[in-house]
Amino acid sequence: MSEVSGLHRDDRLATLTGWGRTSPSRAYLVPVHDEATAVDEVRGAGARGILARGLGRSYGDSAQNAGGAVLDMTTLNQVLSFDSVSGIVTVEAGISIDALITLFLPQGWFVPVTPGTRSVTIGGAIAADIHGKNHHVAGSIGNHIHSIDLLFADGQVRTLSPDQSSDQFWATVGGMGLTGVILRARVQLTKVPSAFINVQTQRANNLDELMERQIDLEHKYPYCVAWIDCLSKGSKLGRGVITAGSFADISQLPSNKAARPLDYEPATTISAPTMAPSGLLNRWSVAAFNEAWFRKSPKHRQDEIQSMATFFHPLDGVAGWNALYGRAGFIQYQFVVPEDAAEVVRTAIERLSNIQAASFLAVLKRFGAGNLAPMSFPMPGWTLALDIPTGVVGLSHVLDGLDELIAQAGGRVYLAKDSRMRSELLPMMYPRIEEWNHTRELMDPNQHFRSDQARRLHR
Ligand SMILES: Cc1cc2nc3c(=O)[nH]c(=O)nc-3n(C[C@H](O)[C@H](O)[C@H](O)COP(=O)(O)OP(=O)(O)OC[C@H]3O[C@@H](n4cnc5c(N)ncnc54)[C@H](O)[C@@H]3O)c2cc1C
Repeated sequence: MSEVSGLHRDDRLATLTGWGRTSPSRAYLVPVHDEATAVDEVRGAGARGILARGLGRSYGDSAQNAGGAVLDMTTLNQVLSFDSVSGIVTVEAGISIDALITLFLPQGWFVPVTPGTRSVTIGGAIAADIHGKNHHVAGSIGNHIHSIDLLFADGQVRTLSPDQSSDQFWATVGGMGLTGVILRARVQLTKVPSAFINVQTQRANNLDELMERQIDLEHKYPYCVAWIDCLSKGSKLGRGVITAGSFADISQLPSNKAARPLDYEPATTISAPTMAPSGLLNRWSVAAFNEAWFRKSPKHRQDEIQSMATFFHPLDGVAGWNALYGRAGFIQYQFVVPEDAAEVVRTAIERLSNIQAASFLAVLKRFGAGNLAPMSFPMPGWTLALDIPTGVVGLSHVLDGLDELIAQAGGRVYLAKDSRMRSELLPMMYPRIEEWNHTRELMDPNQHFRSDQARRLHR
């Protein structure tokens, strides 16, 4: 391997984790400032292989490569061109969604898909084929990428698009870094009238009511999601609060905002204590929060104007909030099941509630159509995401059981969140994996691109 920034190989050994801070591993971390460095590192990759990493917001071990090399792509983060008529931007893959919003929202353009945090890179977003609150109308990020420049295992850079080498393009979308290093992407931005969202809020007293209202609101609004009280039981099981909305027209804004409709100010960020006592987010604190949050939410509120940041990225207001789970970290569990298997959502809440697995963040959403990527997570149906502290008694057993139930129902677990799934369920959950394996074999026959997650799942 080459020397980078005057550092010798051993100086670059770093301990890496995902956002959930479970399963740390050590790798040679190489900052990538230019294409030549990435090419050099890929050509010189050793037996443990190499992997691109973005901002480390995947929760599990998908952006780690124990004993091998990891390319830190966040230093390759420039905007290369922007067409203000079509809204197509060409960027280096390490640019964050935060930077894209900061640069382009004041010009009336927004990212086509945003996850619940702005702190992800475009490369990481494409590799996970991320989805947002608008999946039911816009699909996942892969649907909005015109092309990518991919660094292959042989050290060559090739342009891939839905029309050009489409198999390789779609294998890279949702491919979790295992087909190559995304160096650049041409992304279609979305025109918006303001930097504010016109928000509708509805409270539902149980899961049936919540799902029914969510379907209704999805027909009316491009952005929609529900927060669920995961500790609810009995007749209240699955109670929650739905928020839906669309970008506000200038005429809907109060006069002070209408004067400068595209002003974008991310909310002030406070820092979570780095040495938070382990288990600060426990079942008592979460139960108290859930009760207060449910009661404080209006039964029905219309036309509330919220800033883009408050609506899409409330968690970004607390830097390093993952530390609140203490040293042992936490598991993020997200699955999707087809529409006709919605009962699995109820079973999941029931089983987790029974072992008092308190999730501070339990989010329910209904996906629209999936795309052509064989390993993409979204499929039509219900998706539930929960944060659960490690150490809850019986958690592994319950999650293993849910994995099986989900797979049998034709659903799947999200790999960008996964840190624990058993490998034998992967082909059931991702039935097009053989097709993906075939394309990957052609792109990277010696499996240069490796991750801890890939080893765990025997990919
Ligand atoms: C608070 C929070 C909320 C979230 N909400 C959502 C959500 O609503 N929807 C959703 O879909 N996801 C969500 N996520 C997950 C997140 O969007 C994904 O995990 C995303 O992949 C993280 O991007 P990253 O830049 O941090 O990538 P990393 O976590 O660093 O890497 C993720 C994967 O991408 C690969 N990768 C990274 N860069 C490249 C590259 N240049 N070339 C090739 N492969 C690359 C890595 O190898 C790895 O497999 C959320 C995460 C957090 C922490």
